Amino acid sequence: MSENTSRPVLWIVIPCYNEEEVLPVTAPLFLHMVEEMTASGKISDKSRILFVNDGSSDRTWQLIEDLSDSDPHYIGISQSRNRGHQNAVLAGLMEAKEYCDITISIDCDGQDDITAMDRMVDEYLLGAEVVYGVRASRKSDSFLKRFTAESFYKLLNSMGAEVVFNHSDYRLISSRVLEEFENFKEVNLYLRGMIPLVGFKSSSVYYERHERMAGKSHYPISKMLQLAFDGITSLSVRPISIITSIGMMTSLMGFIGIIWVFLVYFNGYKVDGWASTLCIVLFIGGIQLLSMGVIGTYIGKIYLESKHRPRYIISERTWQPYERHYKG
Ligand code: UDP
Ligand code: MG
Repeated sequence: MSENTSRPVLWIVIPCYNEEEVLPVTAPLFLHMVEEMTASGKISDKSRILFVNDGSSDRTWQLIEDLSDSDPHYIGISQSRNRGHQNAVLAGLMEAKEYCDITISIDCDGQDDITAMDRMVDEYLLGAEVVYGVRASRKSDSFLKRFTAESFYKLLNSMGAEVVFNHSDYRLISSRVLEEFENFKEVNLYLRGMIPLVGFKSSSVYYERHERMAGKSHYPISKMLQLAFDGITSLSVRPISIITSIGMMTSLMGFIGIIWVFLVYFNGYKVDGWASTLCIVLFIGGIQLLSMGVIGTYIGKIYLESKHRPRYIISERTWQPYERHYKG
């Protein structure tokens, strides 16, 4: 296995949505990390910290502009409107890949241990092209979040999607892998599930996840469930086969029911069972609606994919993109 080049150019990609409270706290931490790794000779001084403003309605973009005036390591791009975390990360990665050897994506709220980047770069230098940041434990989460998150990973894997257990969007990806990833054109983004599909040599780095340093989470339970459902339906068609099996089972039960009705009738019993009939009708009606909803979700996704709309639109930059394909 060949080792990767020494002193790679690293771009840290950080999505920010209404983060005016936390950005002033965490931005210096990112810079400190870059300076440390540069000083120890691990990464090139051409490394950058790229903030992706995801259409924030507060002063986030202004803060990013101020940061980029204060130090050349900080740069920023702004999405034309709020498109969500996944699209913001994608926009940053695609912007970065032309100018660097490796990217690390991380949230801007300081929840993910920033110092783990050092170990991620080590893994890259040893030959890994993708390094997943994996949470060593979920102690900082509430019981509900921990339970739902862990069941979700298990559910996703049982549906045939390959996701790394307890890994969110903190990861190192080399530009080499991003070049290939660019060919994954889907608009329904679920990066966690998509990156493993690209392949290449990968490795994991374990870290502790903390509380947010400031500000509030943008992912309440309802949005998390939505992301989970989205993840499953973007990566797997197994729910449709499950629906088919349920359909077959209920029809079989219905068929047995009909035979039973006949037997009872010919034996001279009067069946006075409107309540039980109602229950069964409601139950089967519910299953049908649910199944139609799931199938509808897939059709909705096909509809969105067929439009080929852009996955992100960059409206502003704090920097001038220089000659394309320039690295090092
Ligand atoms: N984020 C974003 N666009 C959004 C929502 C969130 O770019 O529409 C960013 C946010 O600024 C943060 C990251 O995505 O850097 C994760 O969001 P958050 O910390 O709110 O989620 P949690 O960690 O609570 O799941
Ligand atoms: Mg967070």
